[in-house]
Amino acid sequence: MGDEKETAAGAQGGCLCGAIRYRVTHPIEKLILCHCTDCQKSSATGASVNAVIPSERFEIVKGAPKIFSKVVDSGNTLHRAFCGDCGSPVFTRRDNAPQVTVLKVGTLDAPIGMKIAMNIWTSSARPWMHIDATLENHPKGRPMPPATPPA
Ligand SMILES: [Zn+2]
Ligand SMILES: [Zn+2]
Repeated sequence: MGDEKETAAGAQGGCLCGAIRYRVTHPIEKLILCHCTDCQKSSATGASVNAVIPSERFEIVKGAPKIFSKVVDSGNTLHRAFCGDCGSPVFTRRDNAPQVTVLKVGTLDAPIGMKIAMNIWTSSARPWMHIDATLENHPKGRPMPPATPPA
């Protein structure tokens, strides 16, 4: 178990074509499936598979992702970073919580010791998706850690 943690702590990943490469120096174990309709469109699947990590532990080591920004249901602006050459979604950040990076974990080279821990936006889940009812599941979003106390 301890070995898995250490291996995951220095994880590397990148987009499909290799133009974007990154390094994560934070353990990634608990994954969040997001079934929101924006994630369905951007991933072309039933859900994004995400890990929430501190932005300071995430580093782009090659290339520069394109950014698609959109105001989401909460009123915040979500920035989706993806490869402009091959289209792989890589990570997202929010205007109101730039210290948090949500990594699209399908881009990791070696997904060691990771498990789905939570489903969010299950109210818009596609009918073909299996949702494990024993997990922590939310019909809508889950509050992100706030960047600043509410005004
Ligand atoms: Zn690419
Ligand atoms: Zn989503």
